[in-house]
Amino acid sequence: MSGRPRPEFDTLVVGAGFAGSVLAERLASQLGQRVLVVDRRDHIAGNAYDYVDEHGVLCHRYGPHIFHTRSEKVWRYLSAFTEWRPYEHRVLAEVDGQLLPIPINRMTVNRLYGLSLRTDEQVQAFYDERAEPSRYVANSEDAVVAKVGWELYVKFFRGYTRKHWGLDPSQLAASVTSRIPVRTSEDDRYFSDPFQNMPLEGYTRMFERMLAHPGITVRLRTELADVSHEVEFGRMVYTGPIDAYFGHRFGHLPYRSIEFEHRTLPTPGGGLLQPAATINQPDEDVPHTRVTEYRHLTGQRHHCSTVAIDHPCAEGDPYYPVPRPENRERYLRYQALASELPGVSFVGRLARYQYLNMDQVVGQALGVFERFAADAQPALAASL
Ligand code: FAD
Ligand code: UDP
Repeated sequence: MSGRPRPEFDTLVVGAGFAGSVLAERLASQLGQRVLVVDRRDHIAGNAYDYVDEHGVLCHRYGPHIFHTRSEKVWRYLSAFTEWRPYEHRVLAEVDGQLLPIPINRMTVNRLYGLSLRTDEQVQAFYDERAEPSRYVANSEDAVVAKVGWELYVKFFRGYTRKHWGLDPSQLAASVTSRIPVRTSEDDRYFSDPFQNMPLEGYTRMFERMLAHPGITVRLRTELADVSHEVEFGRMVYTGPIDAYFGHRFGHLPYRSIEFEHRTLPTPGGGLLQPAATINQPDEDVPHTRVTEYRHLTGQRHHCSTVAIDHPCAEGDPYYPVPRPENRERYLRYQALASELPGVSFVGRLARYQYLNMDQVVGQALGVFERFAADAQPALAASL
């Protein structure tokens, strides 16, 4: 046995978003650790934070968050902290004066071109006539043009992507536009995952339950720098931007931001303002990218309704890592430094500089926890 006294906290977790909260919950509930969670914001839940606005509408402060996953493990884990409301997200894109379903599917093609294609084979043949499958898929332009051709690419992807990222799709990794499938069926759901639901009482309520364990202490409006010297801890889980952790010594990693403009309008009789939860605007002449009406997502009935209008921008909170080769190279230099710090784990979208959805961050955090558990208690890890 070592003679050293146990520090005040076994683990310091920096960031109360999905990455930090999942790890805090697991370390406290499964390993009996004392965990301190700090976040510089005045709330928990990270970018998934939701709240009731001054009009009584449940809103998401950092843009619309829709939960979907193919991981039963992630779904089972989160189900301990929330019930779910079945919800399948649908999006319409305004193209050539029409509101058309995106992802591009049979209905999109029929309405845009005045066709009546009826089978998957007919729609595939339509794509095949236009697609450029021989293109080597090196970037986000190639990824779409290879599947549906230039015209649909320009109408649905080029303008939206230029506005959202401030870059042409040809300057972005193929993985960005590849998030959106191309379908031959009439399936007009935005996501294809088998599990599509929203937390019944919202994300913040789910996080409150995760962090309610008596072994967890949460300090808000608190920077890592406020506690790193003052508090004794065994190890650290860091979920903020990795370049900031290392004082940007290799230069800043680019992050894209968004200004969310919230507007509230009366909806007499409890109706809704938009025909779909989200209306996308791929037209480059329209400054915003999308408008989302929260009540579609939350199922809330109310006498007014709030929409979020996304205005992408370069400055502001770091929301999106920008997937392109030169940024990955810079990230790898930071990652090499991180791997030399055995007492600190870098977890989540900003700390790993990866364009991850919520469920992927939960899966990553559970994986990190399993490795901790294997080191701490091999028998427990074997049973997880
Ligand atoms: P975050 O939620 O960013 O949490 C990190 C926390 O660390 C923050 O609260 C921050 O304040 C804190 N922090 C950072 N540095 C410090 C420091 N030095 N000291 C103290 N605190 C610090 N995913 C989906 O699955 N579906 C969606 O529909 C969806 N929509 C999205 C829409 C937008 C506009 C954005 C930006 C993201 C969306 N996501 C969506 C992705 C989702 O938000 C992330 O996957 C998830 O929230 C990442 O969790 P995280 O814990 O890694 O990071
Ligand atoms: N995209 C597009 N047109 C659309 C929808 C998406 O060009 O109508 C592209 C755009 O580059 C976007 C990417 O596909 O950034 C991924 O879209 P997603 O809706 O997954 O983005 P997020 O919800 O993460 O902002």
